[in-house]
Amino acid sequence: MHTPDFDVVVVGLGAMGAATLYQLAKRGVKVLGIDRFAPPHDLGSSHGDTRITRQAVGEGAAYVPLAIRSQQIWRELESELDVQLFEQCGVLVMTSSATAPAADGAADFTEHSIELARRNGIEHEVLDAAQIRQRFPQFAPIHDSALGYFEPGGGYVRPERCIEAQLTRAQALGATWIGGETVTALANEDGLVRITSQGRSVTAGKAIVCAGMWSSELLGAPFDQLLRVCRQTLYWFKLEEPTPFAPCSPSFIIHGASEAETCYGFPPVPGEGSMKIATEQYSATSLPDTLDRQVSRAEAEQMYRQLVAVNFTGVTPQLVKSAVCAYTVTPDSGFIIDQHPRLANVTVVSACSGHGFKHSAAIGEALAQQCVDGRSEVDLSAFSLQRFSSGQGR
Ligand SMILES: Cc1cc2nc3c(=O)[nH]c(=O)nc-3n(C[C@H](O)[C@H](O)[C@H](O)COP(=O)(O)OP(=O)(O)OC[C@H]3O[C@@H](n4cnc5c(N)ncnc54)[C@H](O)[C@@H]3O)c2cc1C
Repeated sequence: MHTPDFDVVVVGLGAMGAATLYQLAKRGVKVLGIDRFAPPHDLGSSHGDTRITRQAVGEGAAYVPLAIRSQQIWRELESELDVQLFEQCGVLVMTSSATAPAADGAADFTEHSIELARRNGIEHEVLDAAQIRQRFPQFAPIHDSALGYFEPGGGYVRPERCIEAQLTRAQALGATWIGGETVTALANEDGLVRITSQGRSVTAGKAIVCAGMWSSELLGAPFDQLLRVCRQTLYWFKLEEPTPFAPCSPSFIIHGASEAETCYGFPPVPGEGSMKIATEQYSATSLPDTLDRQVSRAEAEQMYRQLVAVNFTGVTPQLVKSAVCAYTVTPDSGFIIDQHPRLANVTVVSACSGHGFKHSAAIGEALAQQCVDGRSEVDLSAFSLQRFSSGQGR
């Protein structure tokens, strides 16, 4: 076996890749990162100013240690770089619908969060509609049936700043990274991995692929059968003055009776008199390179009518800005963090669906631990590819 050019090459430097590069560099690994754009950028899945973080992760117990550890890593980075990454304003998860009890998984989400918090000793409060309105007056119009889970340790992180901070630290610790170069092929060669991009061809002992919505394009089967790219729209609506939002208002998730009644959002970011709100859609699939990146006026009007007007007071219909982002989703909406089934020494980190950012710093750490120590402190087995072949994953 020849000596590789690098111990590890990380493909893609968004949320997952930047965290992995940083953690590898921290452990003295000779690592190269390559991204097709100039991270942090607004063409993948990690832009739009804010991402919710919460510890009682209703998506499943396997995520809880990753969310908790990520918050610690962001605090470490904040003190190292004197930058603000994590705003601990709390998070309010609600089930609220004027039309009918929320259907299946949606109804369970708030209750599941409460149950997970109880089981894991995560500080929280359970609130009814009257308590929610009294505590957070911006939610005055919510339905009387609303059930709320408030976690004071949650809040939001700043995704672009987190990526930039981790790339900055990685570089300071000796990592090399390159933007504006697309990796076009990965292959095994003489016990190593050969990584070919438009600009170079290098060998590494291992490759870690964090290519987000381009994962299928780069990796082919079985990822092209498992991953779907779903366009999502983000809206910032101007607030009335004076605003009903208290200075420390929580991030929020509202589960309604259907996808159309479900949304999440953020309190005004300091210095900006607007509220960011977004929905999730999983019915229409897109391709990364032809993704419609414009939000139409009709989409913004519908968002205001269907979700802002019915859940909030003090938010005007004036759209301050909008953005398009994309979820890359698996059939069960869980993550895939596993070895490539055919390429030796290639780990795939995708798709992280719509909820990966809050876990990204700890995922990077766990992957670096696997590379250096052969095992990670946090158990990643829930994210294996195996679940799709054994019929466990939907
Ligand atoms: C609208 C929206 C809202 C969200 N809200 C939340 C939230 O509130 N809380 C939360 O926890 N999560 C949230 N998420 C999910 C979270 O943001 C994502 O799971 C996470 O950012 C995905 O990170 P990633 O590294 O997998 O992908 P990306 O950040 O997209 O990174 C992939 C990178 O790979 C690069 N790349 C791709 N192909 C190649 C190639 N061939 N060669 C070189 N480079 C390549 C791309 O340029 C890109 O930089 C949200 C996502 C979206 C879209």
